[in-house]
Amino acid sequence: MHKTPFKNYQTNVAKVAQALGLSDAYVKKLGTPNRIIKKKISIKLDNGKKKNFEAYRVQFNNARGPYKGGIRFHPDADIDEVKALAAAMAVKCAVVGIPLGGGKGGVACDPKKLNQNELDRIARAWGKAMAPYIGANKDIPAPDVYTNGRTMACVLDEFEKFHGRSEPGLITGKPLSLGGSLGRDTATADGGAFVLREALLALGMKKGLKVAIQGFGNAGGTMAKILHRSGYVVVALSDSRGGIYSAEGLSPEAVEEVKEKHGSVGDFATGANGVKKISNEEILVCDCDILIPAALDGVIHKDNAKDIKAKVVLELANGPTTPEADEILAKRGVTLIPDVLANAGGVTVSYFEWVQNIANFYWTAKEVRERLEPIMVQSWSAVWKLSVDKKVTLREAAFMVGIGRIAEAMKDRGGIV
Ligand code: NAD
Repeated sequence: MHKTPFKNYQTNVAKVAQALGLSDAYVKKLGTPNRIIKKKISIKLDNGKKKNFEAYRVQFNNARGPYKGGIRFHPDADIDEVKALAAAMAVKCAVVGIPLGGGKGGVACDPKKLNQNELDRIARAWGKAMAPYIGANKDIPAPDVYTNGRTMACVLDEFEKFHGRSEPGLITGKPLSLGGSLGRDTATADGGAFVLREALLALGMKKGLKVAIQGFGNAGGTMAKILHRSGYVVVALSDSRGGIYSAEGLSPEAVEEVKEKHGSVGDFATGANGVKKISNEEILVCDCDILIPAALDGVIHKDNAKDIKAKVVLELANGPTTPEADEILAKRGVTLIPDVLANAGGVTVSYFEWVQNIANFYWTAKEVRERLEPIMVQSWSAVWKLSVDKKVTLREAAFMVGIGRIAEAMKDRGGIV
């Protein structure tokens, strides 16, 4: 039978529950969202017609703090996947030890068929419909697929109008003018780079390693520049339209200039420095030491896992590896650093944004980075130590840390037998 993302999550919970000695009642509660909110929203399109959309929010678990997670605008808003993403947020926050729970939400719409005014109206309608259910101490949304700072500003504005008070901590990923945090734009890649540095030290891998990165957006593009500056050889880069490879190494800054001018990483001139075009399938199996999927989910699967040449896979994207591929990579001795740890720098700085909003006292970019680094390093150490002690993969260890901390908070609250 085909396993859905949420079924995979429930299977992982059941697995670690045994190791953690959790009762069936805990497994049931940890495998069920606290609340699913669905609302019909209606906006006026620019052509004067009215159109209805489904708005939703999954509030998964808030034992450790307010629900936290993105809002996505996507035509295939599949509730099973959203539940899995909400659960992963709860685990991620717990892995890095920040006092937040897990949630996810969005609107079933096709952003490519809507103009900016219409997207703003959808964001406003979502904010108005969800205003009673969200809040700085209740549920804190953030950007996700096809939403951004502007979307967050619209939601915040509607929420504040509804409640008649200022509450910047309602939402993270806001523009700086509304209380956003410095350093949020590079946080996911910064966090990933700290974890990678520690992982390579633990594995005894030397500097000058070859890196391939799929995806050249906020996560992947920023990561490419950070790693290039730190002495890694970035041999392959790609975006949705394809990629490039050079055994001698690429300059992400130069590639970015070409992408800005011509539209794609793949438009970078081939020939010089041995640069050749490669597809998004080829980049995953290209000759490199470190592979960083930073675009879509499910790209490393049972059919390509055996061909991956990298010794380390760092999951900057959410869910890029299927459970079948996980097993294949583990058997082949590839070290996979799971998304709930590798990309948790993003939610950690979102937490910093929330802290700054609540304190109404703002930090410099340097302060943000200085607070992020120890959290990522300590989180890596805890997961690595457990994986060595228990002889499990880093994903299993991260799950044990995350689920263990959520279960501990649930136990301390009482009420579950
Ligand atoms: P983004 O929209 O900024 O960039 C996505 C990149 O992926 C773009 O370069 C796009 O061209 C590329 N892409 C799209 N389809 C592709 C395909 N078929 N093959 C190869 N590349 C393709 O998004 P982002 O914020 O960088 O997010 C990327 C991933 O990282 C997502 O899985 C996201 O959930 C995850 N993530 C991001 C953050 C963050 O703070 N940005 C935090 C945690 C996790």
